Amino acid sequence: MPRYDFRCRECGDTFELSRPMADSDAPADCPRGHGDTVRLLSTVAVGGRAAAPASSGGGGCCGGGCCS
Ligand SMILES: [Zn+2]
Repeated sequence: MPRYDFRCRECGDTFELSRPMADSDAPADCPRGHGDTVRLLSTVAVGGRAAAPASSGGGGCCGGGCCS
């Protein structure tokens, strides 16, 4: 079952819930009892580790044609 991150707009707390994908957009209650929560993007989408090395890794020069 996928896990979803939520943030409470009343107390600013973030929490995680496991729920069926069909219920991913259903309202979730904050652990502190607040109901004004928003669902955050999944950790998979937010991570972005796979794309990060593109700007910091070596070898970018030859890709731009400056080595010709
Ligand atoms: Zn709260």
